[in-house]
Amino acid sequence: MSGSRDPWLLTPGPLTTSIETKRAMLHDWGSRDDDFIQVNAEVRDRLVELAEGGGDFTCVPVQGSGTFAVEAMVGTLVPRGGKLLVLINGAYGMRIAKICDYMGRAYATYETPEDMPPEVAGIDAMLDADPAITHVALVHCETTSGILNPVEEIAAAVAAKDRRLLVDSMSAFGALPFSLRAVPCDAVAASSNKCFEGVPGMGFVLCRTAALEAAEGNAHSLSLDLHDQWRAMEGNGQWRFTPPTHVIYAFHQALEEHAAEGGVEGRNKRYVENCRILIDGMKALGFEPLLSDNLQAPIIVTFRMPGDPNFEFQGFYDRLKDRGYVIYPGRLTVAESFRIGCIGRLGAEEMRGAVAAVGDVLAEMDVANGSP
Ligand SMILES: *Cc1c(COP(=O)(O)O)cnc(C)c1O
Repeated sequence: MSGSRDPWLLTPGPLTTSIETKRAMLHDWGSRDDDFIQVNAEVRDRLVELAEGGGDFTCVPVQGSGTFAVEAMVGTLVPRGGKLLVLINGAYGMRIAKICDYMGRAYATYETPEDMPPEVAGIDAMLDADPAITHVALVHCETTSGILNPVEEIAAAVAAKDRRLLVDSMSAFGALPFSLRAVPCDAVAASSNKCFEGVPGMGFVLCRTAALEAAEGNAHSLSLDLHDQWRAMEGNGQWRFTPPTHVIYAFHQALEEHAAEGGVEGRNKRYVENCRILIDGMKALGFEPLLSDNLQAPIIVTFRMPGDPNFEFQGFYDRLKDRGYVIYPGRLTVAESFRIGCIGRLGAEEMRGAVAAVGDVLAEMDVANGSP
């Protein structure tokens, strides 16, 4: 580690947070405290506003990591007799199918390679062939590769076939434009962590209120029942079970910083610049990104593993960590790879620092360049 500061987290999460966000947690609050109830309500309202969901949508928060929110979304909104078509091009799409396995929900999958978005023609064909399918699940940015899936286009196609869409926008919401007016869907799941730069510990689902009202009794799990969570919270402003109070205060502070940066547009601009600096710098060192620019979301970048015989990932990782930069292993099936994230409280200086550190480490490992 460089000096005594925490390392920069160039990962899919948990991520680097601001000092103010960390500081917002230095108190204790009771779950029935008026101040807490107010802050909780503000966080929920702001998230709906950010996605232009006012009037038709409500935000239902849930304790746990992002997967808890995705599982709650699927379990609450897909009726027990329904069937979910899961669009898969990475590990998070796979996880939704696995969630269905656990819950015993019927599902079908439409799988494309990790470097290829799902195609509307293929989705159309599956929906035409299987009238039992009631819902479709899509991962907005598939963090496994960093690929941007065309959410607007797919949402329109699903709506045209009269099916309901559920979106996992965990690693995109807050930094990639998402308007519930332009994207017809019943629910979007995301978390306090990732692009909002809050601390991990809670997820939330923006739900179409009419869909949530109709979802009573669907859930397979008490703690992940969004309908029940929503009814209780609408009733007295409180969470049903112990709320992650500190996480919510940190999230509230993180949302203030998000607004001060210019909201989704401002955050997007910083991440796009981070991503540009990273890709340009890594290419100059010989590394090859998996995705072409048109498929790359400014969230996390997958690089192919260098071919130089002196390159060894664990050593590379450790040396970068010693210099204060934490990267992430790849999880691809199509190619050996590793990932470097562009999200969290990081800017141009940190991205340039990371690229410089990669260059130094290559030299130290006697690796001529990063080409695969
Ligand atoms: C991070 C992430 C999740 C949730 O993962 P957790 O480890 O449970 O927080 C879900 N979907 C996507 C696309 C993600 O990037």
